[in-house]
Amino acid sequence: MVEGGGRVALVTGGNRGIGAACAVALAAAGDRVAVASRGGDAPDGMYGVRLDVTSAEGVDKAFAEVEAELGPVEVLVSNAGITRDTLLLTMSESEFQEVLDTNLLGAYRVAKRAARGMLRMRRGRLIFISSVSAMVGSPGQSNYAASKAGLIGFSRSLARELAPRGITSNVVAPGPVRTDMTDALTDAQRDNMVNQVPARRMGEPEDVAALVAFLASPQASYITGAVIPVDGGLGMGH
Ligand code: NDP
Repeated sequence: MVEGGGRVALVTGGNRGIGAACAVALAAAGDRVAVASRGGDAPDGMYGVRLDVTSAEGVDKAFAEVEAELGPVEVLVSNAGITRDTLLLTMSESEFQEVLDTNLLGAYRVAKRAARGMLRMRRGRLIFISSVSAMVGSPGQSNYAASKAGLIGFSRSLARELAPRGITSNVVAPGPVRTDMTDALTDAQRDNMVNQVPARRMGEPEDVAALVAFLASPQASYITGAVIPVDGGLGMGH
């Protein structure tokens, strides 16, 4: 059961990792949170909805369900993302396309659907989870870095289109964060990453969620078109 009279927030990939921490932070701030993932499961007190960001039809259906159950979505955290890492010469076109389809086109699909209701309300928050690799690159992740860099141009264009209607659009760019995604790396790969981070540690999902909750808050109403790192200094502000 989702209780309370707050705004409605939807987090894609909100069932685990960074998305789950964002869902918890938004719920703590008083929002009614819909957690969207392919499995459709959600923590207690949040509304679980099945959503695959690679299907425009599925996105529409999931938003319609959330609107009927909770009301129009006022805060969107576009967080769902995947990796298919390999070096360029061994990267197949399908590995490149799959990552673009989920990470970049997926964000386009959910933002477009969410913007419809936000434009009607004349308020809203679009928050896209990118990555430090969008700015500094990452060997073996040319597909992933391209998708995450694409989010920046996408979000900034939306910021220009939608700011006059009271809708902000911002990008959060995490460095390495402890989740299933980074658990899949070898110890050597993780150590190598951490050694490049000035803070000399991985981030926690809550580090990212705190910024997302701020960008969703009334205090952040004059922030749009921004790209904000949460990366222990890895990107040095980029
Ligand atoms: P996880 O691998 O732990 O979780 C990924 C999430 O995305 C899951 O909830 C998954 O849900 C969802 N997802 C994947 N594909 C789809 C899809 N087609 N439709 C709907 N949901 C989908 O990742 P993280 O928590 O680590 O990452 C979250 C975001 O943060 C990603 O965009 C990632 O690129 C980004 N990021 C992560 C960093 C890190 O170090 N961890 C660093 C920088 C950025 P399901 O249960 O359906 O699989």
